[in-house]
Amino acid sequence: MKVSHIEHIGIAVKDLKTAIPYYESILGLKCYNIEEVIDQKVRTAFFMVGQTKIELLEPMNEESTIAKFIENKGEGVHHLAFCVDNISESLGEVESKGVRLIDKEPRQGAEGLQIAFLHPKSTQGVLTELCMNPKDKE
Ligand code: ZN
Repeated sequence: MKVSHIEHIGIAVKDLKTAIPYYESILGLKCYNIEEVIDQKVRTAFFMVGQTKIELLEPMNEESTIAKFIENKGEGVHHLAFCVDNISESLGEVESKGVRLIDKEPRQGAEGLQIAFLHPKSTQGVLTELCMNPKDKE
């Protein structure tokens, strides 16, 4: 597996309206995209920091895993996403090394990325996402 960089850091927030002004007014970053990921029931907001993004995740309803996360742990860092050059191969590789997968197959994430999660039980408690931008392949 080849990891090129941290693609993004996912942060669970109760309310984008409250969270975005912190990143914009205090940190001076610019929110360049807000996108709903319907199958994960989250509304996302993105900021670029060098080649890494901050991905704010607001639950769209109670069933969202983000709503459950906030209920259990409160707002805060939710996951770390590593950019890999071949997500299908990477998933096969980590699984063969005994890492538990949440997603056996890559699925569609925000911003056109192919994404898959590794189970935090296998990653010292850090919910880990592998992702690949199919556009980088063209
Ligand atoms: Zn993510």
